[in-house]
Amino acid sequence: MSVTPEQQAEIDELRNQPNQTLRAVSEGMEAHLYKAIPVLDHGFVRVIDYMGDDAAICQAARVSYGKGTKSVQNDEGLIRYLMRHWHSTPFEMCEIKLHVKLPVFVARQWIRHRTANVNEYSARYSILDREFYMPAPEHINAQSVVNNQGRGELLSPEDTARVLEMLKGDAARCYDNYQTLIDEDGIGLARELARMNLPANIYTQWYWKVDLHNLLHFLRLRADAHAQYEIRVYADAICNVVADWVPFAFKAFEDYRMGAVTMSAQMMECLRRMLKGEAVTKENSGMSVREWREFEGVLEG
Ligand SMILES: Cc1cc2nc3c(=O)[nH]c(=O)nc-3n(C[C@H](O)[C@H](O)[C@H](O)COP(=O)(O)OP(=O)(O)OC[C@H]3O[C@@H](n4cnc5c(N)ncnc54)[C@H](O)[C@@H]3O)c2cc1C
Repeated sequence: MSVTPEQQAEIDELRNQPNQTLRAVSEGMEAHLYKAIPVLDHGFVRVIDYMGDDAAICQAARVSYGKGTKSVQNDEGLIRYLMRHWHSTPFEMCEIKLHVKLPVFVARQWIRHRTANVNEYSARYSILDREFYMPAPEHINAQSVVNNQGRGELLSPEDTARVLEMLKGDAARCYDNYQTLIDEDGIGLARELARMNLPANIYTQWYWKVDLHNLLHFLRLRADAHAQYEIRVYADAICNVVADWVPFAFKAFEDYRMGAVTMSAQMMECLRRMLKGEAVTKENSGMSVREWREFEGVLEG
């Protein structure tokens, strides 16, 4: 369960108390505000606050006094131009604050993105809940044989069952010992020490605030097929939110970042030779085996 009935009641209460404002409002984002979008087995992402919309990006780019909008088409064209030419600072004028509940091993990857503001639930002060990420059987794979940093084939049903049994058993045992360690009528170990006994699939929570430029950078890396599944599902959920918040910016991002590729000078040279009808091969390309494979991947799509 991602949120308890009590937490849902608090969310509903917030959504039932609309405020009036003179600030820019994105209708698409208003529909998301406060709601928990379930991710993995106990996690979620929810929007706590946001600033700006597509028009705010254009307003900043034009450094205008009023709305700065000439027409919706102009706004979309300008946003696409800015994205295409890496004129990134206008995108920094929009911000989003998220509440995220995620397993600790996902949080370790996420926290590498340094350009955000974070406040995490304190396991020195509070007791962590007995909630552990257990992968669904269709996400339990063997080590990949082609990519050291990835998963390969699915495990057999018997091995999958053994993996889950071990994960569940270890999590339960660790949490039982955690409770014994912190029990005030027993050992009474400090929470800041007892937490070291908890496995990395326990859930943590944080508030995470970031501007749109840096959020798109995060999404480019983490909604990508090379990212680990467990962080990718969070990035995918956030992509859906961003598409509703700033639809022009998100479309431009899909076209010029997510769907785009970077070619090296050697790749461009090979492409030019190919367009002239020359038979370019791995051997005469001047590229390493790995770069050639990536080049082929780009051409095959
Ligand atoms: C598929 C994948 C595999 C990865 N594998 C590994 C791994 O094996 N080991 C590992 O340690 N990490 C790994 N990472 C993490 C990766 O190296 C980055 O730390 C992470 O993606 C954050 O990227 P970032 O630094 O661009 O983001 P942010 O920290 O959000 O920074 C955004 C941008 O701001 C600028 N910036 C921020 N801080 C500085 C600074 N101090 N100096 C200069 N410029 C700065 C840079 O331009 C940076 O790109 C992996 C990431 C991915 C997506």
